Amino acid sequence: MHPFAATFLAALALHLAVQAWLAVRQIRHVSANRGAVPAAFGETVQLPDHSKAADYTVAKQRLGLVELVYDALVLLWLTLGGGIALVGRWTGSLGLADLWTGVLHVLAVFALLSLLSLPLSLYRTFILEQRFGFNRTTLAVFLADLMKGWALGAVLGGAILAVVLWVMESAGSGWWLIAWAVWLGFSLLITWAWPRLIAPMFNKFSPLDDTALRERIDALLERCGFHASGVFVMDGSRRSAHGNAYFTGLGREKRIVFFDTLLSTLTPVQIESVLAHELGHFKLKHVPKRLIGGAALSLGGFALLGWLSRQDWFYSSLGADSVSNSAALLLFVLVVPAFTWVLSPFLAAWSRRHEFEADAFAATHSSGPELSRALVSMYKDNASTLTPDPIYSAFYDSHPPPAARIARLSQAGPPTSPTAAPATA
Ligand SMILES: [Zn+2]
Repeated sequence: MHPFAATFLAALALHLAVQAWLAVRQIRHVSANRGAVPAAFGETVQLPDHSKAADYTVAKQRLGLVELVYDALVLLWLTLGGGIALVGRWTGSLGLADLWTGVLHVLAVFALLSLLSLPLSLYRTFILEQRFGFNRTTLAVFLADLMKGWALGAVLGGAILAVVLWVMESAGSGWWLIAWAVWLGFSLLITWAWPRLIAPMFNKFSPLDDTALRERIDALLERCGFHASGVFVMDGSRRSAHGNAYFTGLGREKRIVFFDTLLSTLTPVQIESVLAHELGHFKLKHVPKRLIGGAALSLGGFALLGWLSRQDWFYSSLGADSVSNSAALLLFVLVVPAFTWVLSPFLAAWSRRHEFEADAFAATHSSGPELSRALVSMYKDNASTLTPDPIYSAFYDSHPPPAARIARLSQAGPPTSPTAAPATA
């Protein structure tokens, strides 16, 4: 066996072992705390809700363990097992021009991955989510989403692939720098186009028509000096009972989106505090920071791909029977996560710091206690566990554990003046 194949296998095995260890820790910790609501939530959360959150968390983790093994087997088949090469021989036999053979090779492997993930995806939606009362999707909506997702993937994925493969073919050894710039431009274009062109293919967005709430939101936007191109309500309840709120888009296309499920469970002042948290992410420049961080990581990725794609052993050691740009892209995208997972705890910690900062911003510009109440209501409605395993949470969670967030908010105190600078948490 080639040393690189052995290294890949070792990295993959280590990743699997760490993920399984963390999942088992989470299952044990959540199960052990199932019978008692933590003291900090004694007055706000009822025991049946707390136990339901524990059962839901454990059920998701168990499914995650199955998925872990299944995905690893699929990955091994595609790489060392020669799956990518097999698909490549088929697309090569169709007699298309080289560029389109390459595009089709990559798209066909992704379509295959999507098909192979279908059984677990169906189980998650129609059995697991159903059992806990969250699923509102019908099979017809599920299949329509799948078809739209594939069509979108074929069109957008096909377009970016055609450009990147063409650059790889014709731009010489520095192709990766140009391809990175193309990728970056493409990502920004999609982020910009998402709210107006793509999201409406999946959901209905209607302007928020609750006048009192609208006035409250406008006052908050005014206080924070924020301009958005609209406040929208999304029909999230069509698919799931989970609630959320988010910002989307870039520049003047920024939109505020509330799930209808969230609006129906929070009071107006709680909704204002949730929005203030989201505004905090914008005002504290978390979005550009993440974009720059992502651009730097992808630059490193493209540089590495530029080098790997010139090494014959990269192909031969990973089961590809011939050297091609499409095989290089596929192997890279599939194999690199077996190594880069070590970054995820650092990215999660970075994200949690941003969440604390956005909470502090909300406490200053809206209300800390109301945000606490809104969060508790969202934890309850989404059946999020209040007692995650500390190591599991430190490794994965983009948001701080509930107890830490609520404790930090209760220290924040009332706002001193509407224009006060955000408190640094
Ligand atoms: Zn946030």
